[in-house]
Amino acid sequence: MTPKAKTTEIAAEHARLVRELEAHEYRYYVLDDPVVSDADFDRLMRDLRALEEKHPELVTPGSPTQRVGGEVRPSITKIRREHRMFSLDNAYSAEDMLEFHRRLTDGLRDGDTPSFCIEPKLDGASIEVIYEGGHLVQATTRGDGAEGEEITPNVRTIRGVPSRIPHDGKLTLRGEVLIFRKDLVTLNVEREAAGLEVFANPRNAAAGAVRMMDPREVAKRPLRAIFYQAVEGPKAKPTHSETLEWLATLGLPTHLRHKVTPWEGVMDAIAAIDAARADYPFETDGAVVKVDSFRHQDILGATSKFPKWAIAYKFPAERAITTVRSITVQVGRTGALTPVANMDPVELGGTTVSRASLHNADQIRELDVRVGDRVSIQKAGEIIPQVLAVEARSRPAGTEPFEMPKECPVCGTRVVSRVREEGKPELEATVRCPNRQCPAQVQGRILYFASRPAMAIDHLGESLVDQLVTKGLVKDVADLYDLTAEHVAGLERMGKKSATNVIASIQASRERTLDRLVGGLGIPQIGQVAGRQVAQVAGTLATLLAWSDEQVREHVSGIHGFGAKMVECVALFVRDDAERAVLQKLLDRDVSRPQPREVVATEGPLLGKSFCVTGVLTRKREDVHALLRGAGATIHDSVKKDTSYLVAGEKTGKTKLDQAKKYGARVVTEEEMDKLAAGETLPE
Ligand code: AMP
Ligand code: ZN
Repeated sequence: MTPKAKTTEIAAEHARLVRELEAHEYRYYVLDDPVVSDADFDRLMRDLRALEEKHPELVTPGSPTQRVGGEVRPSITKIRREHRMFSLDNAYSAEDMLEFHRRLTDGLRDGDTPSFCIEPKLDGASIEVIYEGGHLVQATTRGDGAEGEEITPNVRTIRGVPSRIPHDGKLTLRGEVLIFRKDLVTLNVEREAAGLEVFANPRNAAAGAVRMMDPREVAKRPLRAIFYQAVEGPKAKPTHSETLEWLATLGLPTHLRHKVTPWEGVMDAIAAIDAARADYPFETDGAVVKVDSFRHQDILGATSKFPKWAIAYKFPAERAITTVRSITVQVGRTGALTPVANMDPVELGGTTVSRASLHNADQIRELDVRVGDRVSIQKAGEIIPQVLAVEARSRPAGTEPFEMPKECPVCGTRVVSRVREEGKPELEATVRCPNRQCPAQVQGRILYFASRPAMAIDHLGESLVDQLVTKGLVKDVADLYDLTAEHVAGLERMGKKSATNVIASIQASRERTLDRLVGGLGIPQIGQVAGRQVAQVAGTLATLLAWSDEQVREHVSGIHGFGAKMVECVALFVRDDAERAVLQKLLDRDVSRPQPREVVATEGPLLGKSFCVTGVLTRKREDVHALLRGAGATIHDSVKKDTSYLVAGEKTGKTKLDQAKKYGARVVTEEEMDKLAAGETLPE
């Protein structure tokens, strides 16, 4: 084969992988109907990454491998948009809707009877995305409507937003970035583990993310985008609803939950969305009613703020009134005390609710919730309902303000309080039980250790863990591995069969790799992602335990994205006698397997040096990379500002050499590279 034919073949293979990955992303993130397993998907992604590593010239900003996000940006630029992004007028009642209809028929005048398209109002952050020549070229926030902030690198990380579409002309889209409810639950579990504040609702989580400066952080949020409008492009389509359907055929995420009807059907369509919205994967706070025909839209035009052809019908927030019967205090895995109101059961948003969170001591004081109070509770995106307000007039006589207990309600240890500090609004007031042996904490830690993202121990539910801890059978996570079926079979709701299953799951979890174990320990600030990074530098549990305090700091502080606080948390944890004892017990029970290496070595003669390898060498490119990584170097796909060496094989391109010159990278031969990797120095 000629080199040219080979190049074409490689490019074709690259295009095939990209297409396949994009198709799977589409099925997963847009249709919510994947056809391959996560493992198969990961394998394709690895293949693509390997191919791009060998042929860096094939990498484009739109490649699925680039979804992890690029460089941090120093600032965000403002962009003036061609078409203003409007807000929507609101309606709250059938009367408001009649008024909207009246204005509309006046505006149309020619006696045309419009059709309407009714769709869910998505509750996230609005964006505009522009495709040109089939490529995603720009994304902006709404900003003030006329001008938005450029957030293209952030939007590129959103899975499900194709980087290429089969449409050549310019296409300007409006959409909403949001987080699905189920994804928010997982995200919050991770944030809690990392010691970060959890998001109260998906909107906050999504809105904060789109404007972040570091696209790699954005990539870590489970964002989705749904497009609900095309502003420029589909002139061939006469209506909005047909345009939505056309967008879907291009592989663009739209919700396709719209309904087209004459005016008579509008209120029913709104009611249908209200009835169905609890089953939507995303939050919906209303229905948007739009005049369907573009011709009618053009005639109607816009005010300075809203289009006159659309209106948002807002559903009333889901609220209910009930009576507080008691206020109990829960103790979490980290020892935090949270007050919970136990109330007369009441219908709220399709479920029966009898408990509401009071968040923390500050909030309970502000609201002054007391036992016997009638309270209004609300569920507006929040996962647990919140107490909104007290109906003070109905308060029975002789009640006392609620006080947080001075002792842990579970173990009786005196609590430690932290008050809210002036100027640090992000630090909530907290009350904690400082006793690590507190059964509530032990139980929380075990459940966390056993959870899906961590050690994934099946059949180990809350009631079983509760019994194991209360009976003193398990005092720490390592004790799990000493349990036998006999221990478990005697417990409540435990037959012989289920006992055997639990024990089998526990024993099977010894085979998990180190990352899951580290992520499951509940080290403050260290969630699953950070846990994996720690596991990669340590490799094995034995190594982690063998490290001196200094070594821990040295290795961990080299991890990408680890700040001083995270390093400190890991060091404190590994140094702590009680924690060490548990880690040693885990090691003695042969729990966890070595972490496969993915990252560069943390020592070696080339530590801190970076290489770009190009041209034809005597060995396979992968082997060369492995050699360099093994010696501590990092590999760049192209010559960059901070590239130290360019290894130039035969037929090295001129561009690469020019770049090396421009950035001051030293050009070396394969032989010289071998010397460097062996720790020798090259003559000047
Ligand atoms: P508001 O921010 O309350 O003025 O509502 C206007 C915003 O609702 C728009 O800027 C959109 O971002 C958003 N929105 C959500 N879903 C839709 C939809 N289906 N059609 C139009 N706008 C929508
Ligand atoms: Zn306690």
